[in-house]
Parts: sequence; C-alpha cells; structure tokens
Amino acid sequence: MSVIGKTTSAEFAREVPTMSDVRKNPSFRRTSDSELREVEAQLNVSTGVLNGLEFYTTNEICTGCGRKKGLPDVIDTAINDANHSPAELLYALLGNEKNLGRPQHIRCKACGTLSSGYSEYIGSNYACGTIEF
Ligand SMILES: [Zn+2]
Repeated sequence: MSVIGKTTSAEFAREVPTMSDVRKNPSFRRTSDSELREVEAQLNVSTGVLNGLEFYTTNEICTGCGRKKGLPDVIDTAINDANHSPAELLYALLGNEKNLGRPQHIRCKACGTLSSGYSEYIGSNYACGTIEF
C-alpha cells in the first residue's frame, strides 16, 4: 500500500480489493453480528448503530489463548495502544472519508498477547495492511 491516511475514492479503489474480491478470499472473515455488538459497546454507541457494516479481518488465532481475533481486538488495540478515541474510530468505520492505515500488530482483547505478524482489515471506508491479493 503506497498511500497512508486520507485518500481519494480513486486511490482507495486502486489500493484496496473490492468487497466482492474480499468476500471470496478465504484469508479474510466477515465481522459477525455479535462482534459488531461488542464494538458498539467499545465505541459507546447504541446497539444496532453498526448493523449491516461489512468489515473483514484476516483469519487470526491468538497465540496466547487460542481465541479467534477480529474487529473487537482491532478496536481495543486502537484505543489502548494507539490512543485513538472511540469517536475517531466510529468515524473511521462510518464516516464518508476513505482512509488507509499502516499494518498493525493487534493485541488480543482477552489475554493481551500482541500478534507478532501484521493483521489486515478491510471495510468500505477504512483498510489497513499490505493487502496483496
Ligand atoms: Zn488471546
């Protein structure tokens, strides 16, 4: 990924695979409804605000506890390790800007183990990682 931060729609489209490609890629899984409820609680918004959000994270199992990691871990890491506010993160997920982030090590929300590798995640407005398809 050559552009980091706020991008134009054209740059975003060039750097990030289309949702239909992401859906077909077995390396990614869609954030579940129960994970969306967890993220709503993390971001201090009402239940259902994120209904229908299509967001994908790489399939990743925590090496510390064996748990399946996902968007709640990304959000937890962004708040606690990178000092992002819930409002910023909500805007990244639902706002009308297209943003690209650097690859991140994601901390397991349950046991605190930091991944040694980089996680990738893709939403319609925000994506992060090397994202090679
Ligand atoms: Zn863990």
